[in-house]
Amino acid sequence: MGFDLERFVGYVNEGLLCCVCRDVLERPLQAPCEHAFCSACISGWLVHHNSCPEDRLPLDLGSLKPLYRYMRNDLNRLQIRCVNAGQGCEVVCPLENLHTHQDECEFAFISCSNTGCPVQVERRGLEAHLSECSFRSRSCPNGCGHTLQSIDQAQHNCVAELRTEVEMLRAEMLCKVEEVRREMESRLDSQRRHMVQKESQLKSEVEELKGQLSRVMCDVRALLGAERLRRQELAEAELEKRELLELLRDLPQRAHSPTDGAAKDQR
Ligand SMILES: [Zn+2]
Ligand SMILES: [Zn+2]
Ligand SMILES: [Zn+2]
Ligand SMILES: [Zn+2]
Ligand SMILES: [Zn+2]
Repeated sequence: MGFDLERFVGYVNEGLLCCVCRDVLERPLQAPCEHAFCSACISGWLVHHNSCPEDRLPLDLGSLKPLYRYMRNDLNRLQIRCVNAGQGCEVVCPLENLHTHQDECEFAFISCSNTGCPVQVERRGLEAHLSECSFRSRSCPNGCGHTLQSIDQAQHNCVAELRTEVEMLRAEMLCKVEEVRREMESRLDSQRRHMVQKESQLKSEVEELKGQLSRVMCDVRALLGAERLRRQELAEAELEKRELLELLRDLPQRAHSPTDGAAKDQR
């Protein structure tokens, strides 16, 4: 929908009017046949038609283009009255600046900035409204630290509020304590499990070592036995050797002096 022609100050070229709504072009688009329309107007028209509303030439959304630059410039320079002229705004500005003005127009209706307040006021009256708005908030005059909306102030009871807060804090703290306790318990549990595991591991290692030790002792005993036997054999062999040597030493003497040999034999 275009801008109401009535709002413009001075002459408006007919080429800047929308062929659908006959008002001044708003967000204009142009057909290949050079007819121009507000984008909302022509989009709506093309839902049920497939031709230019002015000359019935075939037309679809895809063939629409931006307005020629000189026409855009003409459009932007048109002088328009503020939409809030009815409330008393006397501003007249170029069409291209209209949105900027309306965003800060003192006569525009805006919502009260306090949450929950349904009041709509002119921007210029907002400050006055805020000072008496029943949804404005301020901290409790008795110093309990709560922020109160004016409408709640009558029912506000510092002690009750503080008690509720204390209760909430207490519940929160109990919750945290319980949480910490559970965490510690689970940590202890896992440590205990770990130690039990370690202990049984150590036990089995000790058993293993004991087994090894007894096997080694067995071997040692066997070795000692063998050693003793060997020494015994060695001693016996030594003895035999000595006897044999003695025998050998005596042999020639016995051959030359049999008496000597006989004497020795008697010994
Ligand atoms: Zn239009
Ligand atoms: Zn046309
Ligand atoms: Zn205004
Ligand atoms: Zn308010
Ligand atoms: Zn209070």
